[in-house]
Amino acid sequence: MILLDRVTVIYPNKTVALSGASLHIQPKEFVTVVGASGAGKSTLIRLLIKEEVPTSGKIIVGSIDYDTIDKSNIPHLRRKIGVVFQDFKLLPNLTVYENVAFALEVSGVKNTEIKRAVPKILQLVGLSEKAHHYPGEISGGERQRTAIARALVRNPKILIADEPTGNLDPKNSWDIIELLLKINRFGTTVVLTTHNKEIVDALKKRVITINRGRVVKDEKVGKYSL
Ligand code: ADP
Repeated sequence: MILLDRVTVIYPNKTVALSGASLHIQPKEFVTVVGASGAGKSTLIRLLIKEEVPTSGKIIVGSIDYDTIDKSNIPHLRRKIGVVFQDFKLLPNLTVYENVAFALEVSGVKNTEIKRAVPKILQLVGLSEKAHHYPGEISGGERQRTAIARALVRNPKILIADEPTGNLDPKNSWDIIELLLKINRFGTTVVLTTHNKEIVDALKKRVITINRGRVVKDEKVGKYSL
């Protein structure tokens, strides 16, 4: 569960990035967040992974109240929330397999467990054949699959996909959306931000529209209307 209650973020330069934003996302939902550039989407994502703190308002994710979370618990929180970005953010000198394994190594997972988990997740995202390729040797769609595998391998409750298709052609974009839907069917909450009207309208899922830091629309079966 993700709960934002009247959250306002004012940056030090006085920009109001979010203004009294409230939303409630249930476990296992698939939600798309849309908004023009500068509307506040990235700020919302940074709040959820606790890279930003609200100026006022309350945030609760799962059973964690962001006001009272202990600093030592932040890594645990970030493991519960996987994030993928438009530009993939893969390590270029590591293979697909190593990029995914690295996410587990940094969390102190044992080698035997890494060897079990990584092939499984690469199979889920359809990348078993490319496991030993470097990011420079695979397509954009495959890079995004690698990034999704890396986020998923830690078994997050929530997957945030921030413009995951922004650098992809329509075919690869749809493949990534299909993959997100599959992950969601397996029980992970998915929060997608996108500027792709065709995708939002075809999904027929919940759409939260942000405009100038405010939630201006929240529809169960939403359309892209900016
Ligand atoms: P979006 O992701 O929808 O494009 P952002 O959350 O990045 O929107 O930005 C919301 C508003 O906050 C914009 O006016 C942006 O210029 C401003 N902003 C974002 N980050 C900062 C920052 N670190 N300092 C000051 N202003 C910022």
